[in-house]
Amino acid sequence: MKTVDYFNFKDKQALIRVDFNVPLNEDLKVTDANRIEAAKPTIVKILEDGGSVVLMSHLGRPKGNEAKFSLKNIVSKVSEVIGVEPKFVEDCVGADVKKAADELESGEILLLENLRFHDEETAGDEAFAKQLSELGDIYVNDAFGTAHRAHASTTIVAQFFEDKCFGYLLAKEIKSLDKVLNSTEKPVTAVLGGAKVSSKITVIENILDAVDHLIIGGGMTYTFIKAQGGKIGNSLVEEDKQELALEILKKAKEKGVQVHLPVDSIIADSFSDQASTQVESVDSIPDGWMGLDVGPETLKNFEKVIADSKIILWNGPLGVFEMETFAKGTIELGKAIAEATKNGAFSLVGGGDSVAAVKQFGFDDKVSYVSTGGGAMLEMLEGKSLPGIAAISE
Ligand code: AMP
Repeated sequence: MKTVDYFNFKDKQALIRVDFNVPLNEDLKVTDANRIEAAKPTIVKILEDGGSVVLMSHLGRPKGNEAKFSLKNIVSKVSEVIGVEPKFVEDCVGADVKKAADELESGEILLLENLRFHDEETAGDEAFAKQLSELGDIYVNDAFGTAHRAHASTTIVAQFFEDKCFGYLLAKEIKSLDKVLNSTEKPVTAVLGGAKVSSKITVIENILDAVDHLIIGGGMTYTFIKAQGGKIGNSLVEEDKQELALEILKKAKEKGVQVHLPVDSIIADSFSDQASTQVESVDSIPDGWMGLDVGPETLKNFEKVIADSKIILWNGPLGVFEMETFAKGTIELGKAIAEATKNGAFSLVGGGDSVAAVKQFGFDDKVSYVSTGGGAMLEMLEGKSLPGIAAISE
């Protein structure tokens, strides 16, 4: 894998696709600079080599040139995080942009305006990508969050460069996933939670070849339990996915993967933080009640599997963690993964909601790696080749 370490950037200009799609408040101030911080090592390496940097990113989903999606809003935050005040141009292509890029000197940064102010970006337009390519000597992709999109700046632009590579962040994402999917260390455990079987089915099928243990939690549980003849009351279920659930269990058995399903649930008489709750066997939930978190016996079982694992992948919460009453399973799982990590296991957390959960409960610095790209990570777990990665690897 070619990373920025492969090149000496002295007197070279890097065109870097970063993911500066950061949240802004009503005053258009950055409320979470994680994504800017994540791109810092790559930018600093290039500047320290004696090179210059042109940064390009999207921000939000603008319809035309909406001021609230202007990257001008993040200039001061970039300056604060990177320690260099970036120059800013009010477009990402055109004569003024080309001039600003040509005039850039070693040690300087140029930040382009939001790529998505042009429809050509998401359309993957070649002529637009060619214009972008004229702004640098070496193309660097450090935006994992958009690596699954064949957009102009993430994929198409790469064909115009002889010299191209991954930034440190993207390289780290790829390596972390590789560590899980192609591990020589065992046992490998995947914890899959979240709402639906249907959104995770391809992931489950693909990772059966990589894991020794598959822990299933969250709303998905009840489709599996009902398919096996259990009584699930009013719990979340995808009726038409029961056959599929049984097939997964059969396939797992054939491949020697141990599947761990919940044995008990925290059940509630309504979908509310204030609901009456009790602990019940996962397959004997009365009508009018629904399972919204895993129960204590289940947690004991899951914790044991986690403690014995060398490699752990976690995607999706074990319960409705947004409500305090049903957050315990997800919190305890986070604790168990943090403990296993302390004892030498490698743990990777990815996918939107589990990332939100580990951050909310303070486990983000107690696991080995928290992925920055929800959709991109899921597609890699599904075994798909991501266009942004392929464009550099080829
Ligand atoms: P996903 O995006 O598929 O990872 O799903 C995450 C969502 O699943 C979160 O919003 C959780 O509240 C929800 N969830 C987890 N467990 C359950 C459950 N037992 N019943 C309903 N929703 C759940």
